[in-house]
Amino acid sequence: MVNNQDQRRAVVYARVSKDRDGRSTSVNDQVMDCRAVVAQHGWELGKVIRDEGLSASSYATKDRPGYRMLLDELRSGDALVVWEPSRATRKLSDWVELRDLCAARGVLLVAGGNVYDLTRPSDRLSTGISAVTAEHESDRTRERIQREKRYAAERGAALTGLGFGWVRVFDPDGRSRWEVDPVAGPAIREAVASILAGRSLASVVRDWNARGVVRPSGQAWNIAKARQSLLRASLAGLRTHQGIVTGPGALWPAIITTDEHRALTALLTDPARLHHDAGGPRARHLLSGIAVCGECGEKVALRAQGAAYACRTGHSYRAKKQQTDDHVVREVLRALSDWRADTFLFDVVEDEHGESVVGGVPDESLSARVELATLRKRLEDAASSYAAGELSAAMLSRVEKGLLTQISEAEKRAVPKTVHPLLAAISKDPAALWQSLSLDEKRTVVKLTVRVTILATGRRGKGFDPESVVVERILTDRTALTAALT
Ligand SMILES: [Zn+2]
Repeated sequence: MVNNQDQRRAVVYARVSKDRDGRSTSVNDQVMDCRAVVAQHGWELGKVIRDEGLSASSYATKDRPGYRMLLDELRSGDALVVWEPSRATRKLSDWVELRDLCAARGVLLVAGGNVYDLTRPSDRLSTGISAVTAEHESDRTRERIQREKRYAAERGAALTGLGFGWVRVFDPDGRSRWEVDPVAGPAIREAVASILAGRSLASVVRDWNARGVVRPSGQAWNIAKARQSLLRASLAGLRTHQGIVTGPGALWPAIITTDEHRALTALLTDPARLHHDAGGPRARHLLSGIAVCGECGEKVALRAQGAAYACRTGHSYRAKKQQTDDHVVREVLRALSDWRADTFLFDVVEDEHGESVVGGVPDESLSARVELATLRKRLEDAASSYAAGELSAAMLSRVEKGLLTQISEAEKRAVPKTVHPLLAAISKDPAALWQSLSLDEKRTVVKLTVRVTILATGRRGKGFDPESVVVERILTDRTALTAALT
């Protein structure tokens, strides 16, 4: 430090920037303090340069025109007055540039009221330490802000509004949390279960509107809105980022299970179903829209005054509607009984969530799901430890990296070989339970069990010819089963 009372021109440089605690000293206040220092030394006040609203951190992407101006402005014999060293620059290389410039031009640096002669080793050392510290704080601030932003984004998903299915509950202290809406929650659960059991989306919409289950906007449901609402991953407690599931939510209660969400997505995004739900009349016959014409491959509907199934082209069929239905039902029930009997391969069991899965053959998805839950818990714990200050950001980052790799590994193995709940239910006693199913449910079972082709051949004048209706089982092996259900 030097005490210099000679005549000098003082250049004041002030810029706004927040310190570690988010406090900022206004540029005007800084300039006032600096002017006082200049007056105290009896120097001539030269240019006052302000960089307003720009961070001097090396991570600031904007230019700092004032800083460039400062480098041009400083002349031999000047004093550079700044409020504190870190206000001049937080980038070490800029500091070195400024220091060398001051030393070369014989410019004194005045910071925090102290006067430094940067040709002196001791002043170079003390200001150098300040510059290194300022850069380190800038780095740490940046790291902390980025991390906080990320966690805020992850937690923020719950705060920006979950929509239909939840209500926001406020505690006396002003904090809020999400709870399952007592009306919408059960309505969603019931709708998902029934759609997975073969009910149409259109009938869910009719039901909701009839029962007064309204959209958050107060308007009535339509198929598109209901579909969109039921396909949200947030229903299963999953967080998404730009449409991609990024992880468990944990900040709001799930309404349906992850498996239900997966099954529903597979079902509602099936192009064949979209057409059916797009407003066509509700199917009133077992095989219309399911069985195909053996001539042209088109789906059949009931024609000939309701007497027989036929394609639009009208390839002639002699198989009577009722007899065709009866024949297909017999084959479906037989297929289900065989499938049920084949317990070595297909033993339907319930997993830890009470969902039906294919058992018998060891299913590694169960253990993978347990493992996944443990890994996710560890990730949450690490984040909590970081938030509580027990873990450094660098350590959290390392822990996260390891866990995320293991999680994505386990997720691949955790996809369960789920059996459609309706098949699982009916396979317990196919013949007895068939009668209790609704037409929608029966149609779903048929679709999941067999492929029906109606041929234009058949004996004339005789009764029903079973050979004119080809029923192929698609529940032949585990692979086919899985493919048919997922
Ligand atoms: Zn045809």
